[in-house]
Amino acid sequence: MATQANPPRPLVAGNWKMNGLAKPGLGEAKRLLALIARHKAARRKLAVDVAICPAASLLGVLRPALKGSAVALGGQDCGTAASGAFTGDIAAGMLKEAGAKYVIVGHSERRHGAKHGHAETDAVVKAKAEQAHAVGLVAIVCVGETLAERDADRTLDVVASQLDGSLPAAADAANTVVAYEPVWAIGSGRTPTLEEIGAVHAAMRRRLGARGRGMRLLYGGSVKGSNAAEILRVPDVNGALVGGASLTAADFWPIVLGATGGSV
Ligand code: PEP
Repeated sequence: MATQANPPRPLVAGNWKMNGLAKPGLGEAKRLLALIARHKAARRKLAVDVAICPAASLLGVLRPALKGSAVALGGQDCGTAASGAFTGDIAAGMLKEAGAKYVIVGHSERRHGAKHGHAETDAVVKAKAEQAHAVGLVAIVCVGETLAERDADRTLDVVASQLDGSLPAAADAANTVVAYEPVWAIGSGRTPTLEEIGAVHAAMRRRLGARGRGMRLLYGGSVKGSNAAEILRVPDVNGALVGGASLTAADFWPIVLGATGGSV
């Protein structure tokens, strides 16, 4: 496979979802920091940005431990408004105040209503990304097809339409990251082939045009230590969004190393 000219610095972001209470969560974050410290002590570079996106209640728990470290914090979702009567939601500004640098928007667990009851549209996702940008957060905008859409050979159309509908007009490499996450690959242990991932990422890069120049395009869906390095070597894959395997430092660290092209 051809390599990218001047690829952006990769980002590996862990999405803890509704997992990890304060005690185990803080322990895992500290273990990750210890692994990074050991890596650096061996004079090896950490040529990758790393983030953890825990439940909002854990931001304040992890913040003191991660302050000044190579690991940034992110939220998992934000509201479509700056503030107001939105019971249960959290505003982008609140995440920022709690120490977040990133926020995930449009995760399939929020786009697809049947299981989780959120049924968010592209317009909602876009409004959330706009809120993120308004307060200086980097929006990690998720897109991806369902299994039925893939079987109907609609993957590229679905992803293109989600990109068109979900990214604010002002999205650029500094304020936005796109995560391609096939819905059927999330938490299933199944991944597309490297060629399939490459085809979607190349199509996304083309679709984004000038505003996508230098924008990080992550792959997400059953990334593990054993497949991270080969997935992260696919052209136009600039990192990973990781669910289950981000919950422990032992599982997350080999993925971070995979993004650096290093070995454990
Ligand atoms: C996710 O939910 O964003 C995800 C990528 O999950 P997993 O890695 O567990 O498939």
